[in-house]
Amino acid sequence: MPPRRKTRQVDVGGVKIGGNAPVALQTMTAGYTYEVDKCIAEVQKLAQAGADLVRVAVPKKEDTEALPHIIAASPVPIVADVHFHYQRALEAVEAGVHKIRLNPGNIQDRKQVDRVVAACRERGVPIRVGVNEGGIVERRDKDVRAAEKATLATSYRENLIRIMLDKIAEYLRIFDENDFHDVVISAKSIDPTLVIDVYTAISQRWDYPLHLGVTHAGPPDTGRIRSITALGTLLANGVGDTIRISYAADPVHEVEDGKELLCCLGLRSRTEPELIACPTCGRIEVDLFKLVTDVRSKLAHEIDIPVKVAVMGCVVNGPGECEGADVAIFAGRGKGIIYVQGEQKATVPESEMLEALLRECRVFADRVRRGEAELKGTQLHIQPPDPLPRKDGSLPLSVVK
Ligand code: SF4
Repeated sequence: MPPRRKTRQVDVGGVKIGGNAPVALQTMTAGYTYEVDKCIAEVQKLAQAGADLVRVAVPKKEDTEALPHIIAASPVPIVADVHFHYQRALEAVEAGVHKIRLNPGNIQDRKQVDRVVAACRERGVPIRVGVNEGGIVERRDKDVRAAEKATLATSYRENLIRIMLDKIAEYLRIFDENDFHDVVISAKSIDPTLVIDVYTAISQRWDYPLHLGVTHAGPPDTGRIRSITALGTLLANGVGDTIRISYAADPVHEVEDGKELLCCLGLRSRTEPELIACPTCGRIEVDLFKLVTDVRSKLAHEIDIPVKVAVMGCVVNGPGECEGADVAIFAGRGKGIIYVQGEQKATVPESEMLEALLRECRVFADRVRRGEAELKGTQLHIQPPDPLPRKDGSLPLSVVK
C-alpha cells in the first residue's frame, strides 16, 4: 500500500489524529445525550467495543448540561456534535468536551462562529468542519447545482465535487482568518465513488487530517459494502486519519466493522482471535456452516488474544487457503484433523470437532501467554493430497482417517 499521507496533527483529549498517529476509530451514540446514565452506558459499551472517540449530539441545553458527567465517566475522549446553535458549541467547550463538530454553514452570523473558534483556541479543542453532499443540495447551493445539472449534465459530478471543495475552502478561510488550525475536515456523501473522489481531491489540496465517512449508508446489510468500498479504497491509498462507519443500527456494529477494516488493512493490530473459514464447495462432507458459527461465537467469549484459527472443509485446498493459521481443523467424511502450528494434534469425529478445536485453541493460547509459543510463529505446512478425483469420481479424502 502507498504510505500514509502526511498531515498536520491534532490532539483530541490525548488521541492524536493525523501526522504519524494510527487511524482513529470513532462512532456516535444513538440515544439522547441528556439521558445521562443511558448515554454513559452507551459510551462505555462503544469504548469497550474498540472506539477511540465517541461523538454525542447536543441539540439542546440539557444535552450540554449532561456533558460534564458523561466526560467524567467516559474512558475515551468525547466529541460534541453541534448544528445551528453556536451556544451549544460554547457550552460544550465550557463543559470540557475534547472536540466539536461544527458546520459554519449552518450558523448564519460570522461573529458567532468567531466566538466558538476563540473558545476552542483558549481550551485547545479541535474542530471538525465538514460538508455533506445532502446538506449542500438542500441549502444555498441548490439552485446553482440544479442549473449546472441542467446545462452541464456530463460534468455534473465534477461540478458537485467543485462545489464541495469550494464550500470547504470557504469554511477554512474563517479558521485561517482566526489563525486557528486545529482542524479536521470531512466531506461526506451517500455515494461511495463520490466520497473517494472528493476526499482524494481534498488530500491533494490541504494538509489537514481527514475524517472519513459515508453518510446515511443504511443498515449494516447494505451500508457495509457502501462504507467499506469508500473508506477501504481511501485508506489503502494512504488517505484518512480517522474513520466513522455510519449505520442505521446499534453503533456497536459501526465500531466492529471499523475495527475489522483497519485490521484487514494492517492499520490496527488485532486483539481478538481471527477466524479463517472456507466458503465450502462440492467437496464438503460435514456441516461446516454450523461449525464456523459455533467456533466464532465461542472464540469471542473464551480467547482474548489474536490466535488465528482456520476451519476448513477438506484437506484438498484447505492447507493453502489457511496459510499462517495457528490452529486449524480440516474436516471431511464426518471427521476432522486438528493442527497446531503445523503439528498434527488429533483426529476426531464430527460430533467432537467443536470441543476438540476449542480445547487446542485454549491450550495454545495458554502457551502463548506463558511465553512458550508465539502467535503465527510457525507457518502451517501440510502437504495436500493429489486433488484429482478417483476413477469412480470420488475425491481423495482418505487422508482423513
Ligand atoms: S477447503 Fe475444501 S471444501 Fe472448503 S472450499 Fe476449499 S476445496 Fe471446498
